Amino acid sequence: MVLSRIANELKPSGTIGVSTKINQMAAAGISVVGFGMGEPDFDTPDNIKKAAIRAIEEGFTKYTPTAGIPELKEAICEKLWQDNGLRYNPSQVVVSAGAKQSIHNLTLILCDKGDEVIIPAPYWVSYPEQVKMAGARPAFIHTTEETDFKVTPEALKKAITSRTRLLIINSPSNPAGVVYTESELRELVEVAIARGLYVISDEIYEKITYYGLHHCSPASLDEGFMEKIITVNGFSKSYAMTGWRLGYAAGPEEIIRAAVKVQDHTTSCPSSIAQKAGIEALKGDQGFINSWLEEYDRRRLYIVERLNRIEGISCLLPKGAFYVFPNISRLYQGKLAGNNISNSTELVELLIEKAGVAFVPGVCFGSEDHVRISFATEMSQIEEGMDRLERFLSS
Ligand code: PMP
Ligand code: GLU
Repeated sequence: MVLSRIANELKPSGTIGVSTKINQMAAAGISVVGFGMGEPDFDTPDNIKKAAIRAIEEGFTKYTPTAGIPELKEAICEKLWQDNGLRYNPSQVVVSAGAKQSIHNLTLILCDKGDEVIIPAPYWVSYPEQVKMAGARPAFIHTTEETDFKVTPEALKKAITSRTRLLIINSPSNPAGVVYTESELRELVEVAIARGLYVISDEIYEKITYYGLHHCSPASLDEGFMEKIITVNGFSKSYAMTGWRLGYAAGPEEIIRAAVKVQDHTTSCPSSIAQKAGIEALKGDQGFINSWLEEYDRRRLYIVERLNRIEGISCLLPKGAFYVFPNISRLYQGKLAGNNISNSTELVELLIEKAGVAFVPGVCFGSEDHVRISFATEMSQIEEGMDRLERFLSS
């Protein structure tokens, strides 16, 4: 069968792949503890659900303007001002079916064929594939535990070429839980802007930081930055609304207008019902976020401690988001249950089959030396998963 370049080049999503496998195994009655998909195990708060039910009952079930209803865009602008110190007006906001769609729109309108997009690695699985869909080329800056998985301004300078158009920053990050400080962000953005790049700042994990660290929106650091940075955020992680598909991008009006054109011809507006729920999410009580955060923190400390006790594994404490990204490269030396393991995919497959635990291979995020474990899952599952891993690796 002859398919397009995109069909041949795109990799399937590793995060979605592992969770599909976990679901299939569970349906077949095979016990596997899943740490695949990164989505909060908490339920969407009741006030948000009720707003959606009200929207349906009131017949708010038709197309809306592509970029979202004015009331939601105004609530987003108010949120960006109050939480992030960002002054946007509604014409600078486009609401999409998830932050994923917002980023896809942006890569399509900011990049041409042959352009390069700098992506710090480890990275979220979809960035490189979205860049490829835009005809551009991902250019990775590899980072390790030595710099806490942070990109330095020097490394960024070296990675920029005459073809570079765009830098993607994700803080707090998936999968390594990196949280950049204000001064680190300022330095990176200054380098990028001095070389004429646009910057996408993916802030979807903004509410999930530990150690009392505060999230910083790079566009808030300088008036001039607002012209070059597009801020992306969404409702999936902060409000446990993954299935509602609601996210947004805010940036210069010309860029947002172009993003809306893409959306006009792809999905049109995001769900009208989800939009009404989004207004309630932003305007309603925010109290639950702190209790979720306390619970994530408890799990984070527990899982890192358990992992570091296992011979052959070492794991940094993440500073944000709800993933750990342990280094498992020492497990490649010698045999595991009689098998030679030489990469993260083989390790994950062996662990699913022999230990009954499912992680996401690090290679999906740009590193063969790691696996990703989401701790947005109940503590009892984490305990059981760590027991299984420890038992298997010590046998
Ligand atoms: N960015 C990052 C870093 C993510 O981990 C995710 C996970 N879903 C997204 C964007 C997309 O989120 P959504 O489309 O659910 O808003
Ligand atoms: N962002 C989540 C993850 O990394 C959800 C799955 C996805 O969209 O990739 O697991």
